[in-house]
Amino acid sequence: MAVILAAGEALEKAAKLILAGNPVAVPTETVYGLAADATNGDAVARIYEVKARPRFNPLIVHVDGMEMAEGIGEFDPLSRRLAAKFWPGPLTLVLPLKKGADIHPLVRAGLDTIALRMPTGFISRLIARTGRPLAAPSANSSGHISGTSAPAVEADLGARIALIVDDGPTPVGVESTIVKIEGERLRLLRPGGLAAEEIEEAAGLKLERGAPAGVEAPGMLSSHYAPRARVRLNAAEIAAGEALLAFGPKRAKGADAAKAVRNLSPRGSLREAAANLFSMLHELDATGASVIAVEPIPFDGLGEAINDRLRRAAAPRDIESRTA
Ligand code: AMP
Ligand code: MG
Repeated sequence: MAVILAAGEALEKAAKLILAGNPVAVPTETVYGLAADATNGDAVARIYEVKARPRFNPLIVHVDGMEMAEGIGEFDPLSRRLAAKFWPGPLTLVLPLKKGADIHPLVRAGLDTIALRMPTGFISRLIARTGRPLAAPSANSSGHISGTSAPAVEADLGARIALIVDDGPTPVGVESTIVKIEGERLRLLRPGGLAAEEIEEAAGLKLERGAPAGVEAPGMLSSHYAPRARVRLNAAEIAAGEALLAFGPKRAKGADAAKAVRNLSPRGSLREAAANLFSMLHELDATGASVIAVEPIPFDGLGEAINDRLRRAAAPRDIESRTA
């Protein structure tokens, strides 16, 4: 069962848990967040486990200042202006990922963009104390409403986490507004705690709404990483020249003839597999193999989200003909 500690006395314990790779429920000005070290894939996989999220979607990374932010995202004059005006606060900026940034690929769901926010309150002190950027989706089970008080978080997640930090009801009460910087344009990805009009006024630009043209098909949104290679699921047998994404201690037939092999988790841990999924898909794709064969992966726990992502990666790729 989770311990609930008041924000004034929770910093040391929370920092210890974060540095040991555990998610902690913490207040932010928007809603309570389920925070974990964004540089640690195992810690990020635990977020998905605790929330029982059936899908990997990219998570927002929280920073304590511009120095940390500039080490993670590529800022341009427009994004810098928005950050200067609205941070800390309920605005999330989606930016190109800085080359060499120490953010685990599971946080980004394999994308080379990153959602960044500078929050206020306890979470900001926790980032400063640990020196780690924190990935933090809302502190609730998948499908439940976002927790905006410690008792609400306890009722939902109390049995699955070690610590809930209580700082009373959250002042904003809804999630952050998410804006994507697309060169000279701004796209509203999610309305939230900062009014779109305020952003438009500060930017001197209209916010574009809706998905960009040409990426209508489900699973093919630009936010969904898809490898170039064809992905073949539940492979019981591997053909020569295929790249193999393996799982567990036992190899599929023909594995010796694979062009390259990555094992998501030799010991069969779904948490480890989740943490390795995006980087290993990228690595196998980079071998130039035309097919990535994937061994069967169980569906329990994190297996559901892993299989969901692999299914999307395996879906037919003919966007033009589908949206025509
Ligand atoms: P949550 O962390 O649950 O508040 O949700 C984060 C939201 O941010 C989701 O709707 C994501 O799809 C969105 N998001 C995070 N990172 C990105 C990104 N790199 N590109 C587009 N959307 C993102
Ligand atoms: Mg949520």
